[in-house]
Amino acid sequence: MQERLQELQTEAIQKVDQAAGLKELNDIRVAYLGKKGPITEVLRGMGKLSAEERPVIGALANEVREAISARIEAKQSELEEAAVQEKLAGESIDVTLPGRPVNVGSHHPLTKIIEEIEDLFIGMGYEIAEGPEVEQDYYNFEALNLPKGHPARDMQDSFYITEEILLRTHTSPVQARTMKKHQGKGPIKIICPGKVYRRDNDDATHSHQFMQIEGLVVGENIRMSDLKGTLDVFAKKMFGQDREIRLRPSFFPFTEPSVEMDISCKMCGGHGCSVCKQTGWIEILGAGMVHPNVLEMAGYDSKKYTGFAFGMGPERIAMLKYGVDDIRHFYTNDVRFLKQFAIEE
Ligand SMILES: [Zn+2]
Repeated sequence: MQERLQELQTEAIQKVDQAAGLKELNDIRVAYLGKKGPITEVLRGMGKLSAEERPVIGALANEVREAISARIEAKQSELEEAAVQEKLAGESIDVTLPGRPVNVGSHHPLTKIIEEIEDLFIGMGYEIAEGPEVEQDYYNFEALNLPKGHPARDMQDSFYITEEILLRTHTSPVQARTMKKHQGKGPIKIICPGKVYRRDNDDATHSHQFMQIEGLVVGENIRMSDLKGTLDVFAKKMFGQDREIRLRPSFFPFTEPSVEMDISCKMCGGHGCSVCKQTGWIEILGAGMVHPNVLEMAGYDSKKYTGFAFGMGPERIAMLKYGVDDIRHFYTNDVRFLKQFAIEE
């Protein structure tokens, strides 16, 4: 009987060691240690043994049972650990694989230009002012020295909603509103970006809706030289330190004197090329000293206060800066066009 028990132990341990999986291991447990297993059978036959033999065989049977049980437990942990490792290996991530591309939007080129101009003027102490796009005739024209019937009103074909209300044709009404709000007191330093509307037929250089950025400075002793210095800083920061500016006499009803500002052509360095139409200069914006009538209408003493104003088109600046040849590209939302501006961000 002792031999039989020894044999069972050797046999069981051998099988446990060879077990390939948890199920097989469980089968071995049932086969050797179960109620119908050979060890239980040995113990059942103990009644036939003598009183001396019985405790010896009983103790041995327990030893064998415990040895097999311990071996099964050890094997079980081993198999479980292997299963976990296998699962982890299957789920491992190769960090060297390239990621899936994500489509990211980008700022619209006009937004970028406007933000760049805003940052530049905020750096010079300006504030940003905004006003309504549906505007009163008074602020859009009358307060800017353009009374009803003034021939210069024809320079800006307008979308009228009623006789007194229209879509603003420029951002200048924000000037008039800001000056009125300051009740005849200075100083004012603002820029006003926004949409404006004109009855134009859309083509490569015209759009019925476009953007403007207006600038206004009002204070004591504001002179033409202040305007020129400001525009020079703007042109150099926006287009490059090597750019020159020149002011040409012009006419706007709300400024006196009025000027147009040109910058030297980057393409040809001022020698003349197709971009600058052989002149060496490119027109950028209109400006001038605020007309005394405009100051007076807003409640300022034009003998004490002076000011300058300038207005520019972000589309034109973006076209020059990025080499865009058709203003309509900014409004047709062609992703192939817009995507080109994502690269710089
Ligand atoms: Zn040129």
